[in-house]
Amino acid sequence: MTQQDFVDGRMLIGGKLVEARDGGWLPSADPATEEVIGRVPAATAADVQSAVTAAHEAWPEWAALSMVQRARILKNYARRLAEEGERLLAVEVRDTGNTIAKLRHDIANAVRGIEYFAGLGTELKGETVPASGEYLHYSERQPYGVVGRIVPFNHPILFAAKFGAPVMAGNTVVIKPSEQSPLSSALLAEIVAETMPPGVVNIVTGDGVGAGLPLVQHPLVKRISFIGSVPTGLAIQRAAAEVAVKHVSLELGGKNPMVVFPDADPDEVAANAIAGMNFGWMGQSCGSTSRILLPDALYDDVLARIKARTEAIVQGDPADEATGAGPMNNRGQYEKALRYIEIGHEDGARLVTGGQRPEGPRFERGYWLQPTVFADVTPNMRIFREEIFGPIMSVVRYSGDYADAIRLANDVEYGLTASIWTNDIRLATRAARDVRAGYVWVNGVSRHFLGTGFGGFKNSGVGREECFDEMLGYTETKTVHVRL
Ligand code: NAD
Repeated sequence: MTQQDFVDGRMLIGGKLVEARDGGWLPSADPATEEVIGRVPAATAADVQSAVTAAHEAWPEWAALSMVQRARILKNYARRLAEEGERLLAVEVRDTGNTIAKLRHDIANAVRGIEYFAGLGTELKGETVPASGEYLHYSERQPYGVVGRIVPFNHPILFAAKFGAPVMAGNTVVIKPSEQSPLSSALLAEIVAETMPPGVVNIVTGDGVGAGLPLVQHPLVKRISFIGSVPTGLAIQRAAAEVAVKHVSLELGGKNPMVVFPDADPDEVAANAIAGMNFGWMGQSCGSTSRILLPDALYDDVLARIKARTEAIVQGDPADEATGAGPMNNRGQYEKALRYIEIGHEDGARLVTGGQRPEGPRFERGYWLQPTVFADVTPNMRIFREEIFGPIMSVVRYSGDYADAIRLANDVEYGLTASIWTNDIRLATRAARDVRAGYVWVNGVSRHFLGTGFGGFKNSGVGREECFDEMLGYTETKTVHVRL
């Protein structure tokens, strides 16, 4: 990236592209080189105050628009987002280190998600209830007002851009992107400024404590939608509860199992273990199936295939279409992954491949780590139980017995996704029922299907996204009794 391409970002508050009031900035580096490639304003509570005020003032007019009018505005925004896709992609690849092939899906998915919710406005129906003959009893769904959306570093443009559900439901929003990969949100701010009425969507860039916390605790923000880690999710619930009763939805982490039964095809399993681990995101995707439960009968065969396939991943420039894996997103994540490699060794897991910085001049700087596989992982080990959010797969041996498989699958505090591998339809449906996870693939991994609810059981979250329920979650129900 040349000096010319340096991203000098602004926030979006009340339709205006602005700097932080106190003049602070957050630099952002290319994780492949550690070179600073842009900056965004470092918002503080004063900027959050301005953004929430702008959203609050824009709300009545926005909520008064007809569904057709709102949909028209959102579809135009989605169109502009798609048109600016290549520009967004260029920045996003550099700022995140995710591969261009993977990131292309994120932009397409953001556009699709907005179009989907734009079409659902008139489905936000109430009910009439025949509770008594003297009255007409009915309900209607109303927006909350200002929604605060706080999103993580791993799919920055997808999560920042997909505000279709809250906005179509008649809310206005303040979005806080991650400080680790904020540059695409600066381009997004320009697109939103051009296409959305002032104040309906505001973007404040800043860190968690400086900007996220004031947003959570702002008295005018009744509805908070958070995507991120379990510890931050808990902190947000606590912080919200300190000031008021708020509706907080949480899309959190996972330690997701791939449950393989003895009749599965070894090569198909190995190929999908790699795909499900999301090495193209360096494992930094919440739905990654990072625990592979293999029965005795397939263990050595599948493990050898996983090793070969992992070692065949081409690591390099994330902007190159042929690259299979780039660097990790940021220093904190990188150091965390390195720590977990040490922990894996200390706890007695067997390193099968990876675990090192790749060799060669281009890998000397930056957050590079080889895709890594540990075998003989057992439930007492931390790499079995804890979310690493890095390119580290844990392969676990089990007897082949159904009860063992389900016990191991469920033996973690998380419950986001699970992947089940068998050709036996009864086994598959039984396992899909018994596994404690919100999103289950049978003979599949990774893919999201718009219209189907994504979200976690257990500590992986509260609420569902990517479906009509998400939109309902941005409304409150009012019941009315009219005496006849
Ligand atoms: P994180 O929890 O560290 O940060 C997420 C966001 O919260 C950031 O914008 C951060 O600035 C903000 N934040 C931090 N502290 C805050 C506070 N006290 N108050 C308000 N805001 C605060 O997460 P991350 O490292 O950016 O992302 C990785 C995590 O996100 C992983 O655990 C991953 O599984 C999870 N994730 C979940 C989903 C899902 O859909 N379930 C999707 C993507 C990522």
